[in-house]
Amino acid sequence: MPLSLYNTLTRKKEEFQPLHPPQVGVYLCGPTVYSEAHLGNARGPVVFDVLTRYLRHLQYQVRYVRNITDVGHLESDADTGEDKMEKAARAARIEPMQVAQHFTNRYRQHMLGLGCLPPDIEPQASGHVIEQIQVIEEIINNGLAYEVNGSVYFDVPKYNEEGKRYGKLSNRSIEDQLAGTRANLEGQSEKRSPLDFALWKKASPEHIMRWPSPWGEGFPGWHLECSAMSRKYLGELSDIHGGGLDLMFPHHECEIAQSQGSHAHTDEARFWVHNNMITVNGTKMSKSLGNFVLLGDLFTGPTGPLAFGYSPMVVRFFLLQAHYRSPVDVSDDALQAARKGYRKLMNGLRLLDKLAGDDSLAVSGTAADQTAEAAQLLALAAKPAEFLDDDLNTPRALAALFDLLKRFNTLAANPAALEAVGPAALAQATATYRVLVQDVLGLRDEPRANVEQLLELTLGFYAEAKADKAYDKVDQIRGALKTQGIVIKDTKTGVEWAYSEE
Ligand SMILES: [Zn+2]
Repeated sequence: MPLSLYNTLTRKKEEFQPLHPPQVGVYLCGPTVYSEAHLGNARGPVVFDVLTRYLRHLQYQVRYVRNITDVGHLESDADTGEDKMEKAARAARIEPMQVAQHFTNRYRQHMLGLGCLPPDIEPQASGHVIEQIQVIEEIINNGLAYEVNGSVYFDVPKYNEEGKRYGKLSNRSIEDQLAGTRANLEGQSEKRSPLDFALWKKASPEHIMRWPSPWGEGFPGWHLECSAMSRKYLGELSDIHGGGLDLMFPHHECEIAQSQGSHAHTDEARFWVHNNMITVNGTKMSKSLGNFVLLGDLFTGPTGPLAFGYSPMVVRFFLLQAHYRSPVDVSDDALQAARKGYRKLMNGLRLLDKLAGDDSLAVSGTAADQTAEAAQLLALAAKPAEFLDDDLNTPRALAALFDLLKRFNTLAANPAALEAVGPAALAQATATYRVLVQDVLGLRDEPRANVEQLLELTLGFYAEAKADKAYDKVDQIRGALKTQGIVIKDTKTGVEWAYSEE
């Protein structure tokens, strides 16, 4: 069964076929780097990391672009308020670009910790102002944007008059959109219609991040960067454009309008794929509501509604335990259940190591692979990918991996059944488990124990052995630690350790 994905644009699940196989272009709207990332910010990157990993597993050549927004994202979606970067910089009395660099570094660190492979291209909005100006000029030439007092706005009513439909992605009527903007009318007098949105904003004298343009000094509107950078790196029409549901309107709606209104005349992407939100007690986690859990705090804990800390891999498992289009509520209970599941999967990897090292499996011939037992095992091993093909259903894929693991456990306890499966089928099924867990779902083994505590424990055994005059054991422990670069020192006050200086 080929991969199918739910396309927000058509509101149905569609078979995924790349425009130019085997190449696949994926664009994910990245973070606005003005503050620490919270758990809600991690869901999209984890989901799209699994999607790109899976596409690669299916032998596609993926170009994965995840941008960094470092300019133009104002406090309000209605093109008003201060630039988020500048506000943070002013508060800390540093350069906006210092703020951007600091939080970009932190973001990359957290994403790597969560097992997200770095994107192939990570463009920054501030590095693509020329490309953005070019798109604005194209839209103006097509008669769909106008300049007022050094700012440029997209003319939504004119766009709609031309037979296009602003609102087609989010399925919002003009009335709904107007209701959403009415509260924000203040400071919008330059716009011909409250539906219009900024492509370029004139910089006020105190505004730091500013660039020269045909309309004077200013800065690009937030939505523009993604249209310009997606086109630059993935062409006028990419395969998949992703982001959180909260970006669907107005951000992605504006992106489609910009691309349709420019020289590209496309929907920018064929598949628009949106992940759902993280909630706390049923309410969306967000900076503005103050109910967020910062990633750095989550890994160490306790923080906010959580009484404990959870490792990055447990958090990744937690995020994959829900289908990406469903909301996920975060709680200690849910994270503890995720930790149990994650550990079970990792124990599965250890069981496979044991099975692989089992000499009784070195049975000769492949005849045994034709058995019913072999067929049964291979059928179980085929299931997880079937669920991933069905709109990236990671929870069902995980459940199918647990079914497969259950079978491995049964086989490990039953040599006759194991022999009936045969080495070829076993090798195939174990390879599938490994590849799906590690390479596709990106769940890797984390350091298992606290080294300091283990060392403490070992020194305790050493002291006991010495008191018992069990000198063989004493030498054994000394020797074992020495291979780890540690020497034991007997002092008057007890046993100490030091790094071997040899
Ligand atoms: Zn974007």
